Amino acid sequence: MSASDKKHRDKKSRHRPATEVVHLGRDPATAHGFVNPPVYRGSTVIFPTVEKLWKRDQEYTYGRTCTPTVKALEEAIAQIEGGVATELTASGYQAVSTTIFAFVESGDHILVSDSVYYPTRRFCDRLLTKLGVETTYYDPVIAAGIDKLVRPNTRLIFTESPGSQTFEVQDIPAIAAVAKKRKLWLLLDNTWASPLYFRPFDHGVDVSIQAATKYIVGHADAMLGAITSNERAAKLVANAKDVLGVCPGSEETYLGQRGLRTLATRLAQHQKSGLEMARWLEARPEVARVLHPALPSHPQHEIWKRDFLGASGLFGVILQPTSKKALAAMLDNLELFGMGFSWGGYESLVIPFDPTSYRTATRWQAEGPALRLHIGLEDVEDLKADLEAGFARRAGAN
Ligand SMILES: *Cc1c(COP(=O)(O)O)cnc(C)c1O
Repeated sequence: MSASDKKHRDKKSRHRPATEVVHLGRDPATAHGFVNPPVYRGSTVIFPTVEKLWKRDQEYTYGRTCTPTVKALEEAIAQIEGGVATELTASGYQAVSTTIFAFVESGDHILVSDSVYYPTRRFCDRLLTKLGVETTYYDPVIAAGIDKLVRPNTRLIFTESPGSQTFEVQDIPAIAAVAKKRKLWLLLDNTWASPLYFRPFDHGVDVSIQAATKYIVGHADAMLGAITSNERAAKLVANAKDVLGVCPGSEETYLGQRGLRTLATRLAQHQKSGLEMARWLEARPEVARVLHPALPSHPQHEIWKRDFLGASGLFGVILQPTSKKALAAMLDNLELFGMGFSWGGYESLVIPFDPTSYRTATRWQAEGPALRLHIGLEDVEDLKADLEAGFARRAGAN
């Protein structure tokens, strides 16, 4: 996004987030009155004169660089998340890798939360190591204690809150204070909260990453990522996107735009149903613990309450000790909960997880097998009945 685009955006009046998701990034007056903007598909962009081509003197120059479809969604997300510029990517993972790549060079050291989304870890271990960038994983609840891990060559702190699968809530303001004092970049994977339930730039974050595949697209029908930066970080991120050739697809970008329109409404329901299911599960004898930041039983509930504006529909459950056979009996015949990767769509999902093998800074301790649940938009009574039948099958097989 250029400086003039930014100025244009700043002039627009601010509305509340639920209004912004409906109205930003579209203008019926320039689309023959149609409510939704057209999808620009394209590679070549024609220049009217060779002079203009030499100077690249027009708003769009090549499909990979930007299209009106991409620009519309980038501007909308930038404003909703509260940054100055957004770059879209072809997936959430590409948003993570592009962002980290933007800030490091050979000889650097970075700090990454031990609870980070597993492929983020893989990027650090398999690619950054090869490029001469060293990673230290830290306890996600370290807060201001992270200061002790900072070295002279430390470049950035990567956070994700709550953590993937295990849902530790990070003290972002405390970490931001250290990042500021030590002059480090502070990055956040903000996918769980979406741009609506955590405002990263109000808490000292420099760059916020969204796996837009999840709640922004919201229908499990496209892959998309978004990197939103503050003023200080925007140029470095834009440069990394450019040199890596990162380019979201036109249809996927449009699906992101369409998903955005209902984001606030969907999230409110995911939050309500998610909490109801979490409370119901917490009271079940088959359940040892529920990992949901909005439940008072969550170890960092107070931090969540202080910093977040809401909870999405994704949380964890630790079962009482259960044999593999009994777990399979429970999960294999669920009617409504699908088993598969990703989340954030309209449908409920369940997946077993065990981070024991790859955690290095902390030790994962659980009473029994752990499940990650995504609560979709179905009626919660049907979801409870589905799990209840699963618990019965578990009991029969134990
Ligand atoms: C899914 C996910 C990603 C990656 O997004 P994709 O679009 O699947 O590549 C990154 N971070 C978090 C927290 C995620 O849940």
